Amino acid sequence: MATLSRFDTHEVFNQSPPYENIDLFASDGPLREAVAANGAAAEADALSDFGRQWGTADMLALGRRANENPPKLSTFDAKGFRRDTVEFHPAYHAFMAQSVAAGLHASTWTDTGKRAPAPAEVARAARFYMAAQIETGHLCPITMTRAALAPLAAAPALAARIVPKVVSRSYDAAFRPWSEKSGMTLGMGMTEKQGGTDVRANTTTATPVGDAYSLIGHKWFMSAPMSDAFLVLAQAPGGLTCFLVPRFRPDGSVNALRFQRLKDKLGNRSNASSEVEFTEAFAWRVGDEGAGIRTILQMVQLTRIDCAVASAGLMRMALAQAVHHCRHRNVFQKRLYDQPMMRGVLADMALDVEASVALVMRLARALDRAAGDPGEAAYARVMTPAAKFFICKLAPAFAYEAMECLGGNGYVEESMLPRLYREAPVNAIWEGSGNVMCLDVLRALKGDEEVAVIAALSQETGVDPKSFAVAGEADARALVEKLAIIASAAALKASAPPAVADAFVQGRLTKPRGALYGAAGIDAAITTTMLQRVLPE
Ligand SMILES: Cc1cc2nc3c(=O)[nH]c(=O)nc-3n(C[C@H](O)[C@H](O)[C@H](O)COP(=O)(O)OP(=O)(O)OC[C@H]3O[C@@H](n4cnc5c(N)ncnc54)[C@H](O)[C@@H]3O)c2cc1C
Repeated sequence: MATLSRFDTHEVFNQSPPYENIDLFASDGPLREAVAANGAAAEADALSDFGRQWGTADMLALGRRANENPPKLSTFDAKGFRRDTVEFHPAYHAFMAQSVAAGLHASTWTDTGKRAPAPAEVARAARFYMAAQIETGHLCPITMTRAALAPLAAAPALAARIVPKVVSRSYDAAFRPWSEKSGMTLGMGMTEKQGGTDVRANTTTATPVGDAYSLIGHKWFMSAPMSDAFLVLAQAPGGLTCFLVPRFRPDGSVNALRFQRLKDKLGNRSNASSEVEFTEAFAWRVGDEGAGIRTILQMVQLTRIDCAVASAGLMRMALAQAVHHCRHRNVFQKRLYDQPMMRGVLADMALDVEASVALVMRLARALDRAAGDPGEAAYARVMTPAAKFFICKLAPAFAYEAMECLGGNGYVEESMLPRLYREAPVNAIWEGSGNVMCLDVLRALKGDEEVAVIAALSQETGVDPKSFAVAGEADARALVEKLAIIASAAALKASAPPAVADAFVQGRLTKPRGALYGAAGIDAAITTTMLQRVLPE
């Protein structure tokens, strides 16, 4: 009798094929429509090239490897000399090289550091959204680099030297002075032990030395420590001030940044986040002494938008994985995809992805037009914190529900869902946590133009603008959630088919939202439309 090998006991069937080798743009109806509705229709072919390149099986495997092999801090060399360097897996460097080559770190700026013309923001946001579906850790230095050019405008002479290195499409990971490199990346250090949100509590000091400064103190969180320079807040004689701290001093010696530890994080594992001390670190001033918060806020506005875009991208990937799996898995002689309750869950989730992508692309359009249009500038001002608050807070529960659609396979690392789930909360926490975003919306609503934005959105969606009257901070979350929902509804009306926009208004505005997915009661025909829009069958 033949001996059975342990692989001969059964056939494998009723499992979904891998979700890979996809065009992340062409397969995504809501994204294509939102891009077109916000002025970037002409970019479709280029975005499809990007979507194909990033959706390959190789890129998905690279994303897994970058996160299975987290960076390591090398504090000292073999002889006891300080090194203060971080080693990353080649997969991380591969992502950095691809994102820089595609301009995710700088395509919204010209070679001279001016804002690139429309639709640069929408086109970049679409790429960022697709990249976030594959690997989000490396997007931390990518978003910081693009955002850092905004405050650098306050130091024109410095910016004139640095901008050409930043906008270069060459990723140069060498540990060398930035002036000798073919490209550079930038990070940011604001958060200290005693206060992150409350940066006025920063204790790091900056003492003038000639035409530069010497920094003594620490940062409790400073991500992407191998960046070539960091925008850092410190207390100068004239108050809290923004500085640029390079890894190497102008004389070519290594600057005094002492990395104490890398954070052991829930997710975001391909990216390094350090604790650092400045022991008389060399720094250039950016902006006036005392103007630190105003200066660095220009950077944070941009990274906040990217948090919302990245969370929308994470949700999109989780939903696509769920729909794909349910189409290939049978239970009780019927596809999961055809089980009425599963269709209700998937369509309800699709509402949130439809709304999120429509809103972030509308927001990117506002950035594209803000310089020449005060109404669009006001939209960007009020909707940036609102979108970051709402979308980033949706993502963790969303990723969990998508995971469950894959059953036990969804709980296992190879499925990618665990990584998406662990990644999701960070976008809500960093760059200003949820409550802080809501307080920022309240601040924005002191401006007449910003109030006019709410009035227009209310009118468009049939909501009483008086319902946005602010009684106090305790009401801010409810107000901002509602604001994000009406802005999403308005954005959907402009980009999606009316049936989808109506389903969103019904499921999120007219009826109270259920605590769990699957309770939106979406009409069967619209459910079919929406699921085809997620991924055409
Ligand atoms: C992985 C990771 C990487 C990071 N990288 C960086 C980096 O590169 N550079 C950097 O500078 N920072 C970085 N941070 C820090 C991050 O920006 C801060 O953790 C965040 O801004 C919150 O600050 P905090 O931790 O001091 O919390 P706190 O300021 O103590 O806030 C705690 C909570 O209180 C809430 N809160 C604050 N004020 C109010 C209020 N007035 N009313 C009601 N609620 C309030 C907040 O919303 C938050 O939920 C990183 C954080 C993480 C997790």
